[in-house]
Amino acid sequence: MMPQRFFHTLIIGAGAAGMMCAARTGQKGRSVALLDHAVKIGEKIRISGGGRCNFTNRNLNGRDGSQYYVSQQPRFVRHALSRYTAQDFMNLLDRHGIAYHEKHKGQMFCDRSAQDIIAMLQNECARGGVSWYTGCTVAAVRVLQAEPEGARFEVCTDQGVFRCRNLVVATGGLAVPAVGATPFGYELAKQFGHSIVPPEAALVPLRFEHWAQQGFDSLAGIALPVRIATGEGKQAVVFDEDLLFRHKGLSGPAILQVSSYWQPGRALHIDLVPESRLAQALCDGKHGRKIQLNTALKQLCPALPERLLDFWLARAEFAPFAAHKWADTSNAVLQKLGDSLNNWMLLPSGSDGHKKAEATRGGVSVKEIDPKTMQSRLQSGLYFIGEVTDITGWLGGYNFHWAWASAVCAAEAAD
Ligand SMILES: Cc1cc2nc3c(=O)[nH]c(=O)nc-3n(C[C@H](O)[C@H](O)[C@H](O)COP(=O)(O)OP(=O)(O)OC[C@H]3O[C@@H](n4cnc5c(N)ncnc54)[C@H](O)[C@@H]3O)c2cc1C
Repeated sequence: MMPQRFFHTLIIGAGAAGMMCAARTGQKGRSVALLDHAVKIGEKIRISGGGRCNFTNRNLNGRDGSQYYVSQQPRFVRHALSRYTAQDFMNLLDRHGIAYHEKHKGQMFCDRSAQDIIAMLQNECARGGVSWYTGCTVAAVRVLQAEPEGARFEVCTDQGVFRCRNLVVATGGLAVPAVGATPFGYELAKQFGHSIVPPEAALVPLRFEHWAQQGFDSLAGIALPVRIATGEGKQAVVFDEDLLFRHKGLSGPAILQVSSYWQPGRALHIDLVPESRLAQALCDGKHGRKIQLNTALKQLCPALPERLLDFWLARAEFAPFAAHKWADTSNAVLQKLGDSLNNWMLLPSGSDGHKKAEATRGGVSVKEIDPKTMQSRLQSGLYFIGEVTDITGWLGGYNFHWAWASAVCAAEAAD
């Protein structure tokens, strides 16, 4: 006979959001269990931020943070972000004596290790008397009609049957299946009639057709600051970030950020020299200049890596002019050259997929979730928190912050 247990709140998924929610619910004096199919918990926290966990972003202090989130309804995040701010999370770190620092653009990292965050969450759970069931596989979830002991759900697992009044789904997105990501949360949401915004890899490197044939693979390792945009007109999303050339395509913060917005068939526009309008500078400055065109470009674009510049001038359309004197080069060629560097248009053929992504775009549609409580509008006592929802943060600590803030809202609401 499998054991049967009752908890006021049962949380499936002991990641960032799950642990935060368990700790806060337990500290309210409620009985809580955290259940995870993985044996080692907090793996995404451990591997995050290069091992130092970019746990929040100062930009989220007291402002409308919806601009930092990708969703069919980005404004959904507003209540949770105002209820639980970046400063609130840093106060928690202070109470645990965890040292941290700001890197850039408000990004907050641990001084020592992401492990500090995992240990802190475990300690907070211990303070809340949270029960743990790891290496535990859920076979079925059903709604109880009679509500014995106030229980609304029955969760059948390979470690017995659990009954609970509140069921919190915190199973995250699909990024990095190697550390335990599954579509479980989406399947469970569908069982209760929720709609799912199709999940896609986000914050992910992009690939391009004929990359190696065009020789771009030879640029692997080059990094430079760029302005990058996807979409057009009012729909355009623009980032000023670093771009990284790889053997298989492009990466770096610039690409990861736009990847969360990119739609197949849409071109990227990359300004490789964002600090200058090159076509105009080339045409206006050429008079009397007897230096070679490549020397002129090096002078006009000091931030552009030489290897990239040489590659650019060796491309078929510019190669015949590379050794020309700047003054003797026609304005038409200078215009074309300048525009090509200020507006490099590229059509991605796809991404590296969930295996290499840092997040998932899409998920459980927030249309059917209450933004103040994270409770399902279709089933009382059912909650969705963290990345399983159709909320995807920008690179920079925004995803973890969504995990913390949505978890706190659910913990406060679950009665
Ligand atoms: C390489 C990498 C680096 C990242 N760096 C950052 C960063 O620096 N800053 C930032 O803000 N974000 C970062 N992220 C994103 C961040 O890790 C996630 O957004 C965040 O962990 C989401 O929290 P969550 O609790 O919703 O999901 P997760 O933390 O993914 O937790 C989900 C939990 O559910 C469990 N689970 C899944 N399926 C089942 C199932 N069927 N049954 C039981 N349990 C299940 C998993 O084992 C896991 O423990 C990074 C992600 C990756 C992959």
